[in-house]
Amino acid sequence: MTILVSEVGPRDGLQSIHRIMPTEAKIRWIRALAAAGLREIEVGSFVNPKKLPQMADTAEVVQDALAIPGLSVLALAPNLRGVQNAVAAGARRITMPVSASDAHSRANIGVSTDRAVEQVGEVVAWRATLPEEERPQIEIGISTAFGCTISSAVPEDDVIALAVRLAEKGADSVGLSDGVGYGNPAQVKRLFSRLRAELGERAGGAHFHNTRGQGLANVVAALEVGVTTFDASQGGIGGCPYSPGATGNIVTEDLVWMLEAMGLETGVDLAKLAEARAILAESLPGEPIYGYLPDVGTEKGFRYADGRQPPEGTGRLAAQEICA
Ligand SMILES: [Zn+2]
Repeated sequence: MTILVSEVGPRDGLQSIHRIMPTEAKIRWIRALAAAGLREIEVGSFVNPKKLPQMADTAEVVQDALAIPGLSVLALAPNLRGVQNAVAAGARRITMPVSASDAHSRANIGVSTDRAVEQVGEVVAWRATLPEEERPQIEIGISTAFGCTISSAVPEDDVIALAVRLAEKGADSVGLSDGVGYGNPAQVKRLFSRLRAELGERAGGAHFHNTRGQGLANVVAALEVGVTTFDASQGGIGGCPYSPGATGNIVTEDLVWMLEAMGLETGVDLAKLAEARAILAESLPGEPIYGYLPDVGTEKGFRYADGRQPPEGTGRLAAQEICA
């Protein structure tokens, strides 16, 4: 069985770090991530550059990433204007965030949840006017699906009803997102079971943060109910501007190790992933980056799901190697 690890570090990670990674470093990092076997990378956001100067170079980054053979390039856009900019840059797969919590929606993208749903409808209508080869896939991540830092618990019925509305508006897939680490494995099982029952093929993947250390537990819960696409970021970068001190996304390195050890193929090479991590570490010196596997590497006897056995310690990136 194959699992798609969708790397979101260049978007979700860098977006929440105030320092700006130079465009040249972003491009080298993305190329290294793709070379490590990651087949899908969310490379940036088409948002107001005054609000998020970290993402001002997204068009350039998208164009470079599109030239990488075999890579599926995703970009985030919150509204029609962002989607139009993404398509103009060549993006053909676009993620739009829609918050289940109305208060979060207003704080995050400046409009109510109802308005965000309407915007998805506007995007779908505009898409229909394009020549077929330019029409982007529209993939929704429902933010605050597992709870919200502003309005606390979010009723599960509301999340599922929102997912159905978005699919009816014409979204190609609708996944569930926990940017604040409120989710627990029991809740993950319930919500993804219901999502898959309601949406079938249009049920999307899982986006978990590790804020309370439950990221990988939540992945296992989602796997058990059939989810096969998981967002992760290298080094677990990407906190949340509304949760000071919060750690970020689940760590790509740890996720890949866990899945492969469980016998689930990812196609990702842990040694090459460490090479990409070195670029990240060098480009943002002093920025906290997380993960367990990069400290210790693979254990004696580790095999990838396809049976290959790398040397013990593969994937390790010790601090002195970064500085050398
Ligand atoms: Zn996130």
